[in-house]
Amino acid sequence: MVAMNIVITGGSGFVGSYLSERLINDGHNLIVVDNLLTGSTENIRDLMDDKNFSFIEHDVQNHIEIENKVDYVLHFASAASPKAYTEHPVNTLKAGSIGTLNTLGLAKKHNSQYLLASTSEVYGDPLISPQNEEYWGNVNPNGERSMYDEAKRFAEAAVATYSRSYDIKAKIVRIFNTYGPRMQLNDGRVVTNFIFQALQDNNITIYGDGSQTRSFSYVEDTVDGIISLMQSNEYDVFNIGNPNEITVLELAQKIIELTNSKSEIVFKSLPSDDPKQRKPDISKAKSKLGWEPKVNLEDGLIKTIDWVEYKLTTE
Ligand code: UDP
Repeated sequence: MVAMNIVITGGSGFVGSYLSERLINDGHNLIVVDNLLTGSTENIRDLMDDKNFSFIEHDVQNHIEIENKVDYVLHFASAASPKAYTEHPVNTLKAGSIGTLNTLGLAKKHNSQYLLASTSEVYGDPLISPQNEEYWGNVNPNGERSMYDEAKRFAEAAVATYSRSYDIKAKIVRIFNTYGPRMQLNDGRVVTNFIFQALQDNNITIYGDGSQTRSFSYVEDTVDGIISLMQSNEYDVFNIGNPNEITVLELAQKIIELTNSKSEIVFKSLPSDDPKQRKPDISKAKSKLGWEPKVNLEDGLIKTIDWVEYKLTTE
């Protein structure tokens, strides 16, 4: 890609910070806009002194004004874990709705390209598996995840409407479960929860009977997929994730094995609207972007375990 002026919202978050790193390394000028609600400047510490990097602390629910020319807008700002969006429900609703309109307004003003970080949650509790991009989903419109799911569905509608009405060149990435170093240790995600519990020989808390499935993508694979989409001439919707599906119980057993833990598995109640299965169909990304994930679950988990171990000993 030729060097561009890029604005990324949520660029200090988990996925956003890896993406920011890649974009700076690829020679772009980058402005991160972030309210630091769930992101952290710690994640982008190494970028702060780069001459091509700047950081604006700002909430996307408020109007965004950038003076210099903007070539590309990436909208990644949102709480993204069930615990974080439950703790910040209104901010999540606004980041996905008003925040998307504000970032689209920015793209319209600068005639920039646009990429929305959407989510597998737009498929809700899916009735088909694997989920391909044609599937419209099965979402509870006022359920406990709706501030996130429905805001992201609205965000997709906003992107489609703006791109049709104003000729904005826009893309949408539906990101499936992603894990790796830099995840927040206290945001309740299954991978970090289980590793944290296993390393301390505490009980591993499975919600429900553990038969629900997820498909976990290592963060570098996810970011490679997003960059491939950015670089492509595809102005469309793409699933990015790892189709390797496992049950939550199998994940717990694997983490116990990899950490040599004495933890016992305990079963807790399942939160409402917790999807029973999730597995991306990535054939579209494979054929049109030439992308597929490379890191297998065991290797990715080992890197994540090392990182959690390091955090536990240094904090
Ligand atoms: N989960 C669990 N124990 C935990 C945390 C999560 O059994 O300590 C389950 C959760 O109910 C869900 C799956 O693991 O079925 C993935 O949860 P996560 O919060 O990571 O993200 P989700 O994929 O639901 O958005």
